Amino acid sequence: MSNTGNMSDTKVQRILKGISSRRATLLKEYPNLASQVQEIKSIIANNLQESVEKAVSSLKGKGCHVIIAKDAAEAQEQILKILAGNQRVALSKNPVFSEIALKDFLTSKKVEVFDTDLGERVAGTKVDVHPWIASINTSIPDKEWVAQVKDEIKQQVAHMQYGITGAEAIVEQNGTIALLESEGNVRFTSNLPYNHIVVAGIDKIVPSLEDALAVCRAISVYGMGKDILKYISFISGPSRTADIEFRMVQGMHGPKEVYVILLDNGRFCAAENQQWDLLKCLHCGGCLVDCPNYLNEGLERGYYYIGKRTDVLAAFLEGTKQAEVADCKDCSLCNKNCPTGIKV
Ligand code: SF4
Repeated sequence: MSNTGNMSDTKVQRILKGISSRRATLLKEYPNLASQVQEIKSIIANNLQESVEKAVSSLKGKGCHVIIAKDAAEAQEQILKILAGNQRVALSKNPVFSEIALKDFLTSKKVEVFDTDLGERVAGTKVDVHPWIASINTSIPDKEWVAQVKDEIKQQVAHMQYGITGAEAIVEQNGTIALLESEGNVRFTSNLPYNHIVVAGIDKIVPSLEDALAVCRAISVYGMGKDILKYISFISGPSRTADIEFRMVQGMHGPKEVYVILLDNGRFCAAENQQWDLLKCLHCGGCLVDCPNYLNEGLERGYYYIGKRTDVLAAFLEGTKQAEVADCKDCSLCNKNCPTGIKV
């Protein structure tokens, strides 16, 4: 039975309608946003190998440790190695963690994964229903509860050695990592522990800082109908200061070590086979907002990536699943509302 129910459907419809209408208004202000993002993605797609090499060199230049993981298993093993026997880690929400099944893997290795995302905690959801909204159908108990949970999370994370986040963009030119969020938990997951581990697909590389900002704006406008989400963090390597005697000290008010795991997991192959379109996705959720099927079954079905093209992407990445788009009504609203012009 559907967990959306009649009452909840009304709530879901109201939320999605609000996003849709705000997005339409904002797009009048940013008429070139989609073409800007499409150009950014094309530049990277056509020079992927070179872009990865440049990004690796820039990241290392900023003092980050960089690992290219060819698949999910290698990314998992590398993270375990970095954790160096630590039994607890703070984790923010990002679709890439589902792609590499990180929580299950770490749990199987007796590492306690501490979720810092409030929505995930409240929903306790087993599926990723939307990249930005952990649950549309769960209520927050009350304001005092939120304040208490927030304090608990922060206190716990402040005493942890490792925090893991995804990234919305990685700048090839200067190795800056862009994190976008509404809640603020990504910021402190990356900032409070002594070690920050970033996991990002190689498709997240963008040429410049301006391009990273354009990607963040596209995610905000298309997925949430917001000009920009509450917080953007730009991180350029470990925290450092030369305030005293001009002597460099690393790890002052932020992490001492930053590890960046760049995930291939079929992306190089997709680019070589001219299938890069599948990987241009920003995970903004824009294709879901007006989708009639999302309301009917998408909320329940979930998948680590979302929208109509998830079936195609799943078939490609896993090599086993068949693309199933039989339920699609071919309204093409997903195509119309995709900032990167993905057409499925
Ligand atoms: S397919 Fe397009 S609209 Fe859908 S999440 Fe990806 S970038 Fe956003």
